Amino acid sequence: MCAERKLETDVLIVGSGAVGVAAGIEAREAGASVILLEKEEILGGAAAVSGGGCAIVDTFLQREAGIEDSHDLAFEDWIIAGQGKADEVWARFYIERSNDALFEWAKDRGVEWVGARQNEGNSVPRWHQPKGGGGGLWNALYQTAQDRGIDTWLTNTAAKELIVEDGRIIGVIAEDTTSGDTVEVLAKAVVMGSGGFNSNIDMVKEVRPDLRRHRILEGSGRGDTGDGHGMVEAVGGTTTHMDDIWFYVFAIPDHKDERGRRGLVIRGVPDNIWVNAQGVRFHNEDLSGGGTGSVAVLAQEPAYCWSVMDSTMTDDVTVSDPQYYIPGASVKDPEKVKALIEESPHIKSGATLEALASEIGVPEDTFVETVNHYNSGIDQGLTEDPDFGRPLSNRKMIQSPPYYALNFTPTARKNFGGVKTDLKCRAVDKHYEPIPGLFVAGELAGMAGGHINGKHGLEGTMLGPALFSGRVAGAWAAKDAGFGEGFK
Ligand SMILES: Cc1cc2nc3c(=O)[nH]c(=O)nc-3n(C[C@H](O)[C@H](O)[C@H](O)COP(=O)(O)OP(=O)(O)OC[C@H]3O[C@@H](n4cnc5c(N)ncnc54)[C@H](O)[C@@H]3O)c2cc1C
Repeated sequence: MCAERKLETDVLIVGSGAVGVAAGIEAREAGASVILLEKEEILGGAAAVSGGGCAIVDTFLQREAGIEDSHDLAFEDWIIAGQGKADEVWARFYIERSNDALFEWAKDRGVEWVGARQNEGNSVPRWHQPKGGGGGLWNALYQTAQDRGIDTWLTNTAAKELIVEDGRIIGVIAEDTTSGDTVEVLAKAVVMGSGGFNSNIDMVKEVRPDLRRHRILEGSGRGDTGDGHGMVEAVGGTTTHMDDIWFYVFAIPDHKDERGRRGLVIRGVPDNIWVNAQGVRFHNEDLSGGGTGSVAVLAQEPAYCWSVMDSTMTDDVTVSDPQYYIPGASVKDPEKVKALIEESPHIKSGATLEALASEIGVPEDTFVETVNHYNSGIDQGLTEDPDFGRPLSNRKMIQSPPYYALNFTPTARKNFGGVKTDLKCRAVDKHYEPIPGLFVAGELAGMAGGHINGKHGLEGTMLGPALFSGRVAGAWAAKDAGFGEGFK
């Protein structure tokens, strides 16, 4: 193939998300020249629109808040959450280095950590929040990468194929998606950081045939369509644990997506209740995570539910999608959220519970009984809901019309499986031999190594390992290209 444009560099990085900035900084600090390719028009991938939370262990912030954490405690939580399917070596590598190689490293490169929160499955708070969320974190690292001298970020440029010469990866053939021109980038080492495949529902259903009959939505960064998996497999790389996908169920179909495939993640309604298509509750709604809420909703027939709330709760609704943020800030635009509630065909309302039941197509009597029964527990001052054990203290009843129901539909969010690598992030073949010149990190590598989380994760265990493995890949790619000493 004759390329319209040819470039050369020491280290080439595919993808500008978490891996892009981390590997880029690392390779550049080692002295290598770096070029980044980004398929989308906008840089940043899922990382820049993410919540930004990173699971980090034994930090200054934890100690200051009197939180006693330890590597062994975090490892135990991690392995339990992963249901024994995590890559234990990678998990320990990450946990033991997360303070110095992520928290302190990022702090020294402009990221401001503001607090630690506790999520399901964690014995202590360790979900560390950066100022400005994922956008704040990614922008700080992007700024640092530019300050270090990385000036070639080719947007609208989709990597298509890895170039192999004498068994070694020596570059990438890409396409300029605006002109259709072919771009060839030759490099001494290539880092693949093209993210996961949860914005490609066909690929999700290919690895999860059990979900084919359900409506499942796309929920990762828009460019995370699994391009890298095929590219790496085409040169002999192996994938593993591909069916371990983290679903969120607090999401509705995005009515602005003409393909009807994208999900909008909804937060901010702690007092909603979930009812299934039969009009009954089935779960403690406080346990809404990928390991609990998703499992419960996916077990319903059909696999969706309605998030029911009243008029006192709608102001708190937040949509985790940049379309609903104030431009340039990671904070919600209340007017856009209000418009969504009014115009989305996936959000129904009714002046009475009976009217709402009819709107959402569930048996009226059952639905009214479900809501009244739940309210009665709060009214009686019960501390816990007798059906599913949900704490009821200080809980609002669903009693102020109009009533609303949001069609919560499982949304594929994070890939816990991907390309298998060794501890230097070298992609390995089916005999676990490294493929010369090829490094893989982040969600393409199931966040790190192939399957660092296992079946489920503790939250913050995606972005954190993606940044960390990005650093590892960048350092070893630079060494492979003749710069630096590799990851220390
Ligand atoms: C809304 C949202 C919130 C999240 N919040 C959190 C959180 O709080 N904590 C947490 O731990 N995790 C979170 N995650 C997950 C986390 O953001 C990702 O796992 C992480 O960003 C993965 O990093 P990455 O670099 O591998 O992929 P990304 O950050 O997605 O970057 C991959 C990039 O590669 C580009 N690309 C793809 N194919 C090609 C190609 N062929 N050529 C060139 N470029 C290509 C993509 O467009 C993208 O820009 C969240 C995810 C989402 C979607």
